[in-house]
Amino acid sequence: MRWKLIPKDKSKQPASGEYSDWKQIIADECFNQCVYCSIHEEQFGGIDHYHIDHYRPKSIPRFESLRNDIMNLFYACPICNRFKQDDWPGEPTSLDIASYPNPSQTDYASIFEVNDTSYLLSGKYVASTYLVERLYLNRPQLVYERREAILKSKEAALTSEINDLVQKTDDVESLKRAYALANKIRQHLAKREDIRPYTLLEIRKPEELKLKNRKAKISKTKKKKAKKSKVSPAKAKRPLSKSKKIKTRKSRK
Ligand SMILES: [Zn+2]
Repeated sequence: MRWKLIPKDKSKQPASGEYSDWKQIIADECFNQCVYCSIHEEQFGGIDHYHIDHYRPKSIPRFESLRNDIMNLFYACPICNRFKQDDWPGEPTSLDIASYPNPSQTDYASIFEVNDTSYLLSGKYVASTYLVERLYLNRPQLVYERREAILKSKEAALTSEINDLVQKTDDVESLKRAYALANKIRQHLAKREDIRPYTLLEIRKPEELKLKNRKAKISKTKKKKAKKSKVSPAKAKRPLSKSKKIKTRKSRK
């Protein structure tokens, strides 16, 4: 659970095919983890479950030419990619404006802070605060993953400390206390295993956290679509089929 700067300077534009053919290349380039939340594909369904993110959204007409540009393609988990969609508040000219810093130019590990005890993420800048809110980077799923990663490293540190003590001391009481603490952490981690797979509530953004402009945008798009295709009201009920899709994916696991 740690972000990494994506070395796009070493990327080569593939000679043939289109972006959907290059998923493995993009996954490898991005260290097989989501560039936005840093969750590794192994923790969340593998490469089939992951998406290719068009950093500058291909649905925005001025970015259409970047559809198959390797420099515009990143690896994202399905949840972050869904929250991001075609959102593009503006060019990331500064970290002090709401924007998506380019993961190949800004090391995401340097723009966030993880609280060691609550496991909550906060942005150090306007841009990273925007990402936390927009991509819902404090969804319970990610908080669990962070907690697990932090507890694992704490457990490893404690275990090595206990091993050192065993060699050096005959203070049995201290050893017992350290052992009890390590055991407690191990129990926490075992409990964590029971939590997967995630429920919809753990990966979906609660209504109160949804941005107002997003809501406005959706209703605008819906109106446009309905006008364009003149679909019947029954067919227009898209959100239902979307939730079905997620359930199907989960039940396949
Ligand atoms: Zn993600």
